[in-house]
Amino acid sequence: MFDKILIANRGEIALRVLRACKELGISTVAIHSTADADAMHVRLADESVCIGPPPSKDSYLNIPALLAACEITGADAVHPGYGFLSENARFAEILADHNLHFIGPKAEHIRLMGDKIEAKKTARRLGIPVVPGSDGAVGPDDDAMSIAREIGFPVLVKAAAGGGGRGMKVAHTADDLALAISTAGNEAKAAFGDASVYLEKYLQKPRHIEIQVLGDGRGGAIHLGERDCSLQRRHQKVWEESPSPVISPEARARIGGICAKAMQDMKYLGVGTIEFLYEDGEFYFIEMNTRIQVEHPVTEMITGIDLVLEQIRIAAGGDLPVTQDDIVLNGHAIECRINAENPVTFRPSPGKIARYHPPGGLGIRIDSAVYQGYTIPPYYDSLVGKLIVHGKTRGECLMRLRRALDEMVVDGIETTLPLFRALVREPAIIDGDYHIHWLEQYLAGAKLESR
Ligand code: ADP
Repeated sequence: MFDKILIANRGEIALRVLRACKELGISTVAIHSTADADAMHVRLADESVCIGPPPSKDSYLNIPALLAACEITGADAVHPGYGFLSENARFAEILADHNLHFIGPKAEHIRLMGDKIEAKKTARRLGIPVVPGSDGAVGPDDDAMSIAREIGFPVLVKAAAGGGGRGMKVAHTADDLALAISTAGNEAKAAFGDASVYLEKYLQKPRHIEIQVLGDGRGGAIHLGERDCSLQRRHQKVWEESPSPVISPEARARIGGICAKAMQDMKYLGVGTIEFLYEDGEFYFIEMNTRIQVEHPVTEMITGIDLVLEQIRIAAGGDLPVTQDDIVLNGHAIECRINAENPVTFRPSPGKIARYHPPGGLGIRIDSAVYQGYTIPPYYDSLVGKLIVHGKTRGECLMRLRRALDEMVVDGIETTLPLFRALVREPAIIDGDYHIHWLEQYLAGAKLESR
């Protein structure tokens, strides 16, 4: 096992990793920018190192500074969390060159899945169903039009290097195609330094269903069921739940089995998520994330498996914690991502939290790094915390979520709490009858109080 882990992240995920390390008896090193000197992960870690000024590129993404911090503290492994360097294959290789363990998959798998065109080809080869689309990158001068006509409009133009919903444009008709390709390409070039785009059939009312996998890197792999992340705004997840209200045990076993088999064939190491769109009973692969995800707690709540702790154990050469047959899905869990944003305009609202009271009681979990008096800095994402609620049934979970949201107090900044208080009372949400465009349609018509 590792002796000392450097956590190359901040916020709630840094705290989440720290908690797993403490339970495993591993020493922790926090790193932070000058803007995060007062952060909770810094206070709770055994040691901390300031690695640069506020902008991420000079601190949380600064590889030489991270290496120096490992050297100074004698850390033997690095946990990247999510975002920042978590899906940077080069970072994983550089750590290996310095005899440091990267707590994540093999660099070749990160690289493969980071290129969405290659990822789709790999998925197809491994027997995973994919969204119909172009087999490779398309340019405005090629046969994009004939490919698009073959797929059928509307088509979605997507960046090969995409992430966070950037570099994505819908072409509703043939007339929109050239513009969609050039806009998506320019956006991708600016965001990722790579302008390649590809085409996909644009699904009209799918759900976003993702499968959590865990592999030992030696050909052993299991799946831990699905998460339904269909409530999204601008392709960003807002609310996640497990199990999905629309996936039957047979459908789960079928798609989960396909994913676990694919991970066995790849000899995948660690945690991963295979993302699908689901429409009319069919699954369509869109991408794979080779890291722990924001929404991992809903899976933990219904399986009882600590994904971050297992991720660390497996990175240190450990075996899978359970066999597929041992996994029992128990009850229902929902996660709300509460952001420091105006709940109507979604304008970020950083600043000082004047009053903070998290909800409690049976089945309530808060993953957050904020505290009363803490100032949310303007430089990073606007996540205040994740409220995760567990119940025996979806109905009990919703009931509990309703009272937990009513109990929670975050004053001094604007948050998206009012949005969740409204959502949890919406008939479509209560019925589980929503798709990936539902929330934006709802927001276009909804009237919310901003407090
Ligand atoms: P990113 O890596 O940028 O998050 P994804 O490929 O994971 O991109 O897609 C993000 C979201 O965009 C999906 O959850 C879904 O809402 C939407 N999306 C992606 N592909 C399609 C598609 N073919 N049809 C309709 N919506 C899609």
